[in-house]
Amino acid sequence: MLSGLTACPGLFYTTPAQDGILFRLRIPGGILDSKQCRAIADIADQYGAGYVDVTNRANIQIREIDGKINTAVLEYLQDMGLGSRNTAVDHIRNIMTSPTAGIDPQEMINTRPLVKSWDDYIEAHPALSKLSAKFSVCFDGGGIVRVSDRLNDIAFAAVLVDGKVYFRLHLSVGAKGKPPVAMGILLSPEQCLPALAVLTNVYLNHIDPNSRRKSRLREVINSLGCESYLQEVEKSLPFTLFTTEDQVRKGQFFGLFVEKSDNQYQHIGIHPQRQKGLFYIGVVLPLGRLESRQMRGLADLAQRYGSGTLRLTPWQNLLLTDIPQERLGDIQREIAFLGLDYSANNIKSGLVACSGSRGCAAAATDTKGHALALAKYLETRLTLDCPVNIHFSGCEKSCAQHGKSDITLLGVSNGKMESYHIYVGDGDNNQKFGRELYQYVSFDELPALVEQMLKVYLIKRINSRESFGEFANRYVIAQLKQFFSPDMALYQARITTLCKEHR
Ligand code: SF4
Repeated sequence: MLSGLTACPGLFYTTPAQDGILFRLRIPGGILDSKQCRAIADIADQYGAGYVDVTNRANIQIREIDGKINTAVLEYLQDMGLGSRNTAVDHIRNIMTSPTAGIDPQEMINTRPLVKSWDDYIEAHPALSKLSAKFSVCFDGGGIVRVSDRLNDIAFAAVLVDGKVYFRLHLSVGAKGKPPVAMGILLSPEQCLPALAVLTNVYLNHIDPNSRRKSRLREVINSLGCESYLQEVEKSLPFTLFTTEDQVRKGQFFGLFVEKSDNQYQHIGIHPQRQKGLFYIGVVLPLGRLESRQMRGLADLAQRYGSGTLRLTPWQNLLLTDIPQERLGDIQREIAFLGLDYSANNIKSGLVACSGSRGCAAAATDTKGHALALAKYLETRLTLDCPVNIHFSGCEKSCAQHGKSDITLLGVSNGKMESYHIYVGDGDNNQKFGRELYQYVSFDELPALVEQMLKVYLIKRINSRESFGEFANRYVIAQLKQFFSPDMALYQARITTLCKEHR
């Protein structure tokens, strides 16, 4: 059994962090059963600091471990299905799919069998241990809760063509940090895994398997060119890649391809499932964190009210599923009793932060501490009626959220003062975090400034379906500054005083 320190965490590949050793449990598709939850909670209590973090690939991290988890415990977790049977491939990125796969009332296809098959394939092929640890795959079944716009090397997104379900192939290509791009290729569900196996093999043929820093798929495709890469793939396939560009140009498929989700937090709250009379509840985990007692409590609720499973989401929240309508009132009360919330209006539902200076040496700021302090400040001052995605990142690497957010707060060092650059909405190719609004805003100034930004948004948005990012995109930066702080000097003096009063 492998166990060592690497840059990429896994169950058998620990990683040192600022706050101790970090373990990552890879949960394909993010689905856990109650027994697994209790086992994880026990490990977090026994070896960690009594909590787990849900990551943006629906993994679980146990932090602050003193490094003494022995082989028997690792084997126990493996037996529980919480680690790969083949330890050599456990470090590969988690397979992503919609957390509502199989229960989404609008999905075109349940992608869970594809996740399972690809996970089995990885375990059965030790040669895949040579993949970059960041090699990432996603299956999107075309339901309400979509993941096809998340960052992945390869994504399959379901579409309907003449009443039949196909998957549209997306590959990571071009600039770093952008979602995968549709290749104009449709695959039947049966063709996806053979195609994925060959896409993977051709990639492996073009990287140095012994290099510590392996090239990403995007880099290989950028160097070869998309066409050459796909031609090489096609040579090893028993079928031709069904190129649909001509049909797309004729308009046959326009309107069928939804490239991104309207609202990435649509899973929070109570929603009907495709199974009549059953509901799922999206539970808010503040900054993805779950105390071990809450984890055990949720495992009990899943068993007593639902099907005994919990689904972790790439938005660092979780779902309790298969709840009969008549039991919704009881389970809501019990979730609240655990100190958790299921309301999309909760400011924490869209709040994301990386480990920050408490867990990561690269961090310029205490992102998690600041995010929670901001949430506490805002909770008593305004009420949202839809989630606003506010992302705190301790450095440019942006571990906690790779895609865009409504508001990004990038930690920067400003002498001894912890400060943030503030970005909003969409940027161009050179603006990874969106458009820059302010520089070097100290944390003292931040809460009142964000309060003002959100209040202006609530007043000036077109309607409640317009996200903060979309609202910001309608204005140039000078206008936004005018709305948010007409007189920055006076404003900053005022908010500094206010913050002092509320400290
Ligand atoms: S984004 Fe930067 S500071 Fe935050 S966890 Fe990642 S490397 Fe550390």
